[in-house]
Amino acid sequence: MSISAPAATRFLLDQQEMPTRWYNIQADLPFPPIPALHPGTKQPIGPQDLAPLFPMELIKQEVSQERYIDIPEPVQDALRIWRPTPLRRARRLEQALDTTARIFYKYEGTSPAGSHKPNTAIAQAFFNKAEGTKRLSTETGAGQWGSALAFATNLFGLECMVYMVRISYEQKPYRKSMMQVWGAKVVPSPSELTQAGKKVRAQHPDSTGSLGIAISEAVEDAATRDDTKYSLGSVLNHVLMHQTIIGQEALLQMERAGAMPDVVVGCVGGGSNFSGLAFPFLRDRLQGRTKTRFLAVEPDAAPSITRGKYAYDFGDTGEMTPLVKMHTLGHGFIPQGIHAGGLRYHGMAPLVSALVEHGFIEAVAYPQRTVFDAAVQFARTEGTIPAPETAHAIRAVIDEALKAKQDGSSPTILFNLSGHGLLDLAAYDSYFAGTMSDVPVPQAQIEELVAAL
Ligand SMILES: *Cc1c(COP(=O)(O)O)cnc(C)c1O
Repeated sequence: MSISAPAATRFLLDQQEMPTRWYNIQADLPFPPIPALHPGTKQPIGPQDLAPLFPMELIKQEVSQERYIDIPEPVQDALRIWRPTPLRRARRLEQALDTTARIFYKYEGTSPAGSHKPNTAIAQAFFNKAEGTKRLSTETGAGQWGSALAFATNLFGLECMVYMVRISYEQKPYRKSMMQVWGAKVVPSPSELTQAGKKVRAQHPDSTGSLGIAISEAVEDAATRDDTKYSLGSVLNHVLMHQTIIGQEALLQMERAGAMPDVVVGCVGGGSNFSGLAFPFLRDRLQGRTKTRFLAVEPDAAPSITRGKYAYDFGDTGEMTPLVKMHTLGHGFIPQGIHAGGLRYHGMAPLVSALVEHGFIEAVAYPQRTVFDAAVQFARTEGTIPAPETAHAIRAVIDEALKAKQDGSSPTILFNLSGHGLLDLAAYDSYFAGTMSDVPVPQAQIEELVAAL
């Protein structure tokens, strides 16, 4: 019998090895930055335009060309509550697939909120606190972002106001409970608290809400109060950068495991967990040192990269946010009620979109039942029950591994297990009960919405 440490422990980092800088991919892009535009004037926005919504440090990060930005000590301290996160090899899944591929995953479900989202929530709460903000407003779909921000604002002594998409507020009460435990105030959106919310309710009294509507409410809340700023859990450059702690840890852990990925996979809603894992590896590809592939996986109910248009669009339904160039289904798009709430967004991070356009990132879309087939196969081999969002990445990983078996290749695959699914068990129930359906978007709907851009 071997006396060496069990395989999984070889890839661990100790807390001293947690990265102390974020990686800013903007420093390495082989194309010029693409400015965001003012929603009224359509001219490139400046720092002052964003100042009512964000603290200056985050505005600077948004446009920074510095390759590395130091993570402040108090942020590192808070991240150390659960970081570094484990990197694991999915040997039992490999065996079940009888594949020649090697499959590794970075597990972000160990955070208090159960996903990667606290990585940026902590940083955003810190920079707001440092500049005197008293209260943060935000939106949440299924509740993962709201719970992450509630956890983070509580650590730094800020109030937190969450506009939660009404259908989730009613159907997914446990994320709301978590937010309340961490001291946040949660209201269903559309609400009566904002002009944006009232307007939707006047036209559609039974509106079950959408992420785009909730964003309009949260932005209006912050823009109309001096003590409040706005916080976004994905899409923006600074959010993606805060997530690069994932990929930097994974680089060290993969080195320790004696393996480097041939393909890096992640699910994409706004693009932050995918980018967080991928960008530190993409740095080496941009600098010509590797040929690693990068695969972004989206639901076919919100296929912004695979079927949307690359164009300037608003981030919200109410046309209050800056216009950003991204893959979009149109800001009027309201996705079907699929179970991966975190992936139901009409747009995509501008950085991810630009890298897709330049051929560095590939994308694929899947319907939800085949995604849950993959989730259950993963849970039955590796144990961990993945979030429905994450299960999209797992579907693509399994398909890559099966392809490898056919071509006789033996790639190393790395994916981001962005969160656990322990608060999403109703979705698994629906899958087993056979009541889950696949809801692809009609082509005509996409064409109509993007034609208006
Ligand atoms: C929110 C969420 C996502 C999608 O958001 P990204 O910004 O694309 O990462 C994916 N997985 C989990 C577990 C989430 O909570």
